[in-house]
Amino acid sequence: MMKLSFHGADREVTGSCHMLECSDRRILVDCGMFQDGRASPEENADSFEFDPSAIDYVLLTHAHLDHCGRLPLLAKRGFRGEVIATSATRELTRLVLVDAAHLQEEEAQRQGLHGRRRGEDRTPEPLYGIVDALNSLDRFGRTADYEKPLELAPGLSATFFDAGHILGSASIRIELAEGARVRSVVFSGDIGNTGQPLLRPSTPPARAEIVVMESTYGDRLHRSLGDSVEEFYEAICSTFARGGNVVIPTFALERAQEILYFLHQGVERSRLPPSVQVFLDSPMAISATEIFKRHPECLDPAVASLFRDGGDPFHLPNLHFAREMADSAAINRITGGAIIMAGSGMCTGGRIRHHLKHNLWRKESAIIFVGFAASGTIARQIIDGAKHVQLFGEQISVRSAIYTINGFSAHADQRELVAWHRGIAGCERTFLVHGEEPAMKELAGHLRGCRVEMPRPGETFDL
Ligand SMILES: [Zn+2]
Repeated sequence: MMKLSFHGADREVTGSCHMLECSDRRILVDCGMFQDGRASPEENADSFEFDPSAIDYVLLTHAHLDHCGRLPLLAKRGFRGEVIATSATRELTRLVLVDAAHLQEEEAQRQGLHGRRRGEDRTPEPLYGIVDALNSLDRFGRTADYEKPLELAPGLSATFFDAGHILGSASIRIELAEGARVRSVVFSGDIGNTGQPLLRPSTPPARAEIVVMESTYGDRLHRSLGDSVEEFYEAICSTFARGGNVVIPTFALERAQEILYFLHQGVERSRLPPSVQVFLDSPMAISATEIFKRHPECLDPAVASLFRDGGDPFHLPNLHFAREMADSAAINRITGGAIIMAGSGMCTGGRIRHHLKHNLWRKESAIIFVGFAASGTIARQIIDGAKHVQLFGEQISVRSAIYTINGFSAHADQRELVAWHRGIAGCERTFLVHGEEPAMKELAGHLRGCRVEMPRPGETFDL
């Protein structure tokens, strides 16, 4: 007997958290942060719908904050079980959680100061701090190798399969032997776009009766990668011809390395001038790029061998890393000829907001969106044609060129999602998660041979 329940990313794209109960064990798959425009700090701080101290395992599909971001909170509230992830996910998660804790401590201090100025004495507590993040990292136990089962209890095992989404990402199959019969549940995690050049492609598990699957782009088809790369180079060249800057909101662990790779290729193939100034204004993206080099097991064989031979697919003659705030602020003085990459990808926070403030109102500059933008976020407002956006309490007009290049997406499109699902034999029942409702409904119409459910938050199913 298995019981499956849903605690996040249900009919939305953030806050992934699903629970499987069987063999007297409670297993969480992901414990992510709610991050879209509607997510309030309270939503993240809400108590879990289960007792954290009763959880035996957390299996992490990948290191994006919306999949691992509430892990410190889980530990703070009593979780003492084992976290299992691939080796690359473990390294990236450390980076992501320490950064998230730091931001929350800063935010709490800032709010405390504002409160004191208003005459209030209350000092707000951060959702969690660095110490909580470090405590949750202590819960990491075994590391998972792709396609090698790990035992969770007698007759109960978990196997990680490459999901091709970001470095170390996995789909996870949990198998329960009941006598001669084996029941299995696959959690897709986020599934990668098969066109991307750096990582190995996703490999769906060959068999499973139950599938819990993401549906982010369930209603969309990406342009081909070749067309997208051309569009990217053209956008950069025409912006430079106008004398402006190119601003690219990037997720540190998602497209940053891929964008660097395409810029490198653009210079090598003379599509971009070798003098192009590129700024990676994200300490996290800089560290993630280093971690990339340490995990050849996740990389496309050609990229892995390039690293092995001392090459660097991210090399650019004028690439500048901005770790310190002062370096970041200095970029604001450049009015043209620069490519500026910074987070967050949905422009909900981070250094990107400063670069938007300095470029969004200038006709000669361009903003290039290369990732998913959830509804309600500043990125989505700009993509949807807003004439003004609010940044730092100031109204900034949108006059720069706006490009959306979705062929770079880290997520599979509808065709790839359907192909991934078709790769799994024996599926009887599919639960769609991690998608906005229209995308989910359309994808559901394309999945054949099984019952499709769209669970609501807190819903429980006996399997
Ligand atoms: Zn992801």
